[in-house]
Amino acid sequence: MKLEQLARCSRDLLRLELTAEVQAAFSIYADELLAWNEKINLTAITAPEEIATRHFLDSLSVVLAVSFGPGQRVVDVGTGAGFPGLPLRIVFPFMELALLEATTKKAMFLAHMTERLNLANVKIISARAEEAGQDAAERESFDTVLARAVAQMPSLAEYMLPLCKVGGQCIALKGENAAAEVQQAEHALRVLGGHVKKVIPVELPQVTETHYLVVIDKVAATPPAYPRRSGMPTKYPL
Ligand code: SAM
Repeated sequence: MKLEQLARCSRDLLRLELTAEVQAAFSIYADELLAWNEKINLTAITAPEEIATRHFLDSLSVVLAVSFGPGQRVVDVGTGAGFPGLPLRIVFPFMELALLEATTKKAMFLAHMTERLNLANVKIISARAEEAGQDAAERESFDTVLARAVAQMPSLAEYMLPLCKVGGQCIALKGENAAAEVQQAEHALRVLGGHVKKVIPVELPQVTETHYLVVIDKVAATPPAYPRRSGMPTKYPL
């Protein structure tokens, strides 16, 4: 799929109409991603058609699980070069987006990208999820928490759930092992106040493996002890 076909696939698969302005923003995003990728390691995917499918369309597939309304507070945990949060913000300008990323150089790219695309209501948090989750300003303050390719589900639950409001949702973008990961995370989810609502399969054009959206409802407050200090969620998963 070429970048100009992104609009057609978004319409056919996701029922999303991408305006000419939005398509131009994706074109700039792809160009900047490749230019910065020469200097810092942002992505292993460099063919334009793969950037369109595996980064942009895959990010937008989150609309199959949640709708984004004005003022909705969204955080993307371990966003890297901005996936899935930034493509969603390009299409839904009235959401309030926080991009949480531990690596300073990647956070610099995100700051550049939001300035280049002139995006309001985007905050870059250059920190670890374990720190943000214990920061009173961020803790349990988001309606929707997103993450793709950051950690295994038991550790990821400890990154995501402390940031989510009770009544909100976490959506983890996962690969073929989604069902097994959900099973492994049963205990962690119970402890942290999460409950798996559904797992939605996503088929992308020219991608053989099925992707999954794991939708987790935040049903109870997360105990104050979580997240534990940096490194603990992956070293000693719940
Ligand atoms: N989500 C992006 C994507 O799907 O393209 C990036 C995926 S990359 C494999 C994982 C990213 O998560 C890295 O940029 C890494 O710095 C970040 N990360 C890992 N652990 C983190 C943590 N505890 N807090 C914040 N960011 C973290």
